[in-house]
Amino acid sequence: MKLYVGIDPSASPSRASGVAVLGGDLRLVLLSRARGDAELVRPCLREDVSHVAIDGPLRLPCGQRACCYMPGSTCACRVRARAARRACEVELRRRGIACYMTTPDTFVPAWVLRSLRLGARLRRLVTGTVVEVYPYAAKRVLFGILPPKGTREGRTALRDALADLGVRGLPPSLPTHDELDATLAAYVAWLHARSATEVVGDRRSGYIVLPALGPAAPSRASRTCPRAATTRARTAARAARRAAHCRTASRARARSLRGRRRDARRRRCPSSGR
Ligand SMILES: [Zn+2]
Repeated sequence: MKLYVGIDPSASPSRASGVAVLGGDLRLVLLSRARGDAELVRPCLREDVSHVAIDGPLRLPCGQRACCYMPGSTCACRVRARAARRACEVELRRRGIACYMTTPDTFVPAWVLRSLRLGARLRRLVTGTVVEVYPYAAKRVLFGILPPKGTREGRTALRDALADLGVRGLPPSLPTHDELDATLAAYVAWLHARSATEVVGDRRSGYIVLPALGPAAPSRASRTCPRAATTRARTAARAARRAAHCRTASRARARSLRGRRRDARRRRCPSSGR
């Protein structure tokens, strides 16, 4: 069975980060808080890992480099590219989704550097696909506005919303918000493998993967209605299942076409064994 990993990295390896692994049947295989890069990377190294989704920037705005995010940095690139922004983050803001811009001046530099480092390491080590996700944006698309994630109410709402999407095996005790964000990241990875996502951004400053809702996206007014949120979540899950089913059906069609062509060749050339 294919596995989908979600990672919510903290700014420092000494502080715990959320990591979640979902099976193809949406059952949680692992939900934990990992310390250090090695512990965070370990669940991604299994060869059945299909997708890894990281909640953190995997690329910088054009012209900026890691040196621009070092403490007390005065490098020329930092000065030159100070006003540069990532296209994906600009696009999220344009859609009314609150998003911190990745810049050396306004962002937690240690977290940006750790996310870049993890992304580069995972892209080297993992056989599957590594993508950037933004759980807050995924929540907005799937569920509308939930209570703040730092509150017990917010964590309960996100846990219940994930269960509504079909995620199974969530622990009876309330997970931490980084574990829940990691689970949502893994769910977006699962959707991405089923072509039920939208990708925003550009090649130079990176992409963010969001759940896709198709043509029936909700209006802004309906985003705060819990019932609409549940309906949207179910629509997204249905779209994912449909996409998976369509691909299986098209593979089956291709197989049967290949079989018919082979039979026709055999009829024309009975001596051929292939
Ligand atoms: Zn620099």
